[in-house]
Amino acid sequence: MAECKNMYINGEWVAAESKETLEIVNPANGESVGTVAFGDEREAGKAIDAAHEAFASWSRLTARERSKYLYTLSELVKKNRDELAEIITLEMGKPLIEAKGEVLGASDNFLWYAEEAKRVYGETVPSSVPNKRIMVLRQPVGVVGAITPWNFPVNMVARKIAPALAAGCTVVLKPAESTPLSAIRLFELIEQAGFPKGVVNLVIGKPEPIGREFMDNPKLSKIAFTGSTRVGKLLMEGAAKQVKRVSMELGGHAPFIVFDDADLDEAVKGLFESKFRNSGQMCICTNRLYVHEDVADAFTEKLVERLKRTNVGDGRTKGTEIGPLVNQRALDKVLEHIEDAKEKGAQVVYGGKQLTEGEYAKGYFCEPTVIVGVNAEMKIAQEETFGPVVPLIRFRDEDAVIQQANDSRYGLAAYVYTRDNQRCFRMAEQLEYGIVGINDGSTTQTQAPFGGFKESGIGREGGRYGMDEYLETKFVSFGL
Ligand code: ADP
Repeated sequence: MAECKNMYINGEWVAAESKETLEIVNPANGESVGTVAFGDEREAGKAIDAAHEAFASWSRLTARERSKYLYTLSELVKKNRDELAEIITLEMGKPLIEAKGEVLGASDNFLWYAEEAKRVYGETVPSSVPNKRIMVLRQPVGVVGAITPWNFPVNMVARKIAPALAAGCTVVLKPAESTPLSAIRLFELIEQAGFPKGVVNLVIGKPEPIGREFMDNPKLSKIAFTGSTRVGKLLMEGAAKQVKRVSMELGGHAPFIVFDDADLDEAVKGLFESKFRNSGQMCICTNRLYVHEDVADAFTEKLVERLKRTNVGDGRTKGTEIGPLVNQRALDKVLEHIEDAKEKGAQVVYGGKQLTEGEYAKGYFCEPTVIVGVNAEMKIAQEETFGPVVPLIRFRDEDAVIQQANDSRYGLAAYVYTRDNQRCFRMAEQLEYGIVGINDGSTTQTQAPFGGFKESGIGREGGRYGMDEYLETKFVSFGL
């Protein structure tokens, strides 16, 4: 077996004090792809100490100096794109072409925040008395605890640590247990980029004790989290005890609405991107498809045609468009949603089953699936499916579909296809979602604000909005 890979704390690669390790498996075939040190609150505590100590000097560097490290890292990530992408595909299954796109996205985030670091402007505000001056400073919040999920194991990290470091914060990162190998490779590049010790730390291990340390340790000022709404709520509750700053990117349940005047071919293309990318394992994935009844049959036919041409397989195989689901639990949930919908009267018009033969035998593969006759009582219409299943609901009336689309505790992403300009604006303004794609099924860009309404989260990642999450506002009143 390959050697055990360690955590990165205070500029050193260290094993867990408990000596525990964890084996990482490839979800496409169940084979081992590596072993990592698996720590707990002890490593989290040491990393927070290191980050706290490093904060004093890192936060006082000029923005230009901090920016240089981020530029170097951006270049290194780009240069090592193929290797990082291969690790992502091995540990979580996404098609290699998507993994390469993700790595480029991460490089772009480091580049963007290298630039943005230099634009953290304060303000002077006119005073209402002649012998005073009002100055507003923007300062880093302090040590950041970042917790990331497995579905974008490199870019979710970049989207947190890039703005945090640019702002002058120091960081302790806890990646998801199933995808630490790409985080370790990224940290090797961080080491190569020459960041001073303690500025960025990597702790791999048990989520609960590490999360608890993040919440309870007074040296840590902010928690940046992407993951499930359930865990996000736990962290918010815990963070409340010390009024720690939080930013949360949580679950989603995106509606995708196709009007009768839409370009159906474009809509199928957009749906494919928003539903099947990452095997349907994105918080911005379509989870309810509403199609106007006059075009529902034609749309379904085109969608099924597209799915018939879709390659499901190992992400490393050229031409694969849909890889495996991340683990057995994820596959079970998807199959449960399909069964529940069938029991409550829906019909499967394409797919619907786990793939078990031949190359699929040892992985967690599910057929791309289309279900019609879906209603609001079904689990699939309420809960995040996180898999390659499209539940189709017919509608007739614009106001009614807006109401249905908004009838969710989530509010992350929504998509609309129509060629009516006035309707575009009505939809953009009335959908209660943080991200609305109008004739666009693939919305994410580095400089745009990403985040949700309602239980989908709090705060934004991306662009200058993402920087705000790592800055405090200080008012200095000068008496003259
Ligand atoms: P998913 O179901 O997509 O895996 P989770 O919210 O469980 O979403 O996981 C997202 C991240 O949160 C992972 O890094 C995971 O280890 C971490 N996590 C899970 N439970 C906790 C917890 N109780 N405290 C802190 N982090 C946690």
